[in-house]
Amino acid sequence: MNGKYIIGIDLGGTKISGAISTFDGKIIYKKSIDTLSSQGPERVTGRILGHIKHLIEYVKADKDEVSGIGIASPGPLNIEEGVIVETPNLPFRNYPLIKTVERETGIKAYLENDANAAALGELWFGAGRGSKNFIYMTVSTGIGGGIVINGDIYHGHTGNAGEFGHMTVEPHGPRCNCGNYGCLEVMSSGTAIARIANERLKAGEDSLLRNCEKVTSKEVFEYASKGDKLSCEVVDYTMNYLGIGTANLVNAFDPELIIIGGGVSKAGDALFSRVKNVVSKRCFEIMAKSVKIIPPGLSTDAGLVGALAVIMSKYNSAD
Ligand SMILES: [Zn+2]
Repeated sequence: MNGKYIIGIDLGGTKISGAISTFDGKIIYKKSIDTLSSQGPERVTGRILGHIKHLIEYVKADKDEVSGIGIASPGPLNIEEGVIVETPNLPFRNYPLIKTVERETGIKAYLENDANAAALGELWFGAGRGSKNFIYMTVSTGIGGGIVINGDIYHGHTGNAGEFGHMTVEPHGPRCNCGNYGCLEVMSSGTAIARIANERLKAGEDSLLRNCEKVTSKEVFEYASKGDKLSCEVVDYTMNYLGIGTANLVNAFDPELIIIGGGVSKAGDALFSRVKNVVSKRCFEIMAKSVKIIPPGLSTDAGLVGALAVIMSKYNSAD
């Protein structure tokens, strides 16, 4: 199967982003529309189908020229069955999205977890090009990831491998949204950084952060770089846990690369230097020295490019 075009759909709680590209992934046309999640599963599916039709019509293609549709969605998912099991910001519950899309479009479609899709995006078009074994971690409001082994995603037995955000890094830590305590996500995500800083401000500690209207992880990193004591301590504290999580991954997988993306990774060296430092302390020297801990190659449209890469990986092997 080697048609002229492929389609990528990045399904989010607020936006449905879509792109049609050449078979080797050059985007010809892309457009986002509102998800309108509150309208329910049938209406949202209708919007996805309408968007796919629009992409095909815009480039004056015939649907037979489209090799496949990659759909990236938040999980948990049943990848094999193409079913969205449940996701907090979308109306789908045990919803057979792929069967519906294939029936209505006549085009083969594939579902992939959005973090795995981003990992495939890095493999085909980003910092993972030329590398066959790496870990992709995304640190934003939550923490997720993807495991690339031999140039393909490792899905695990139930298809949900790569939930790095929910590995326990602090047994006595606060409760996570998943119900467990002290998950990496509740210790070092963007949400966690903001929460910890705000708790300390509320407790009356002195900090330049008091000048900010709203304190998010961005402000904490910004004021840490200016030497604000509280901000520095919060960055040290949370990035130590991110380092522990990363060190656990290095010890488990001995990967060539660990790519850390997501909004929090935009803090740059403040994040990477701390994480590398913990890895060098907690891992065997041979692995700590060889692993490269780096930012992603893709920034804008990472989700969309990932959705296209889902199809790339179905019909090609990354050499
Ligand atoms: Zn958790």
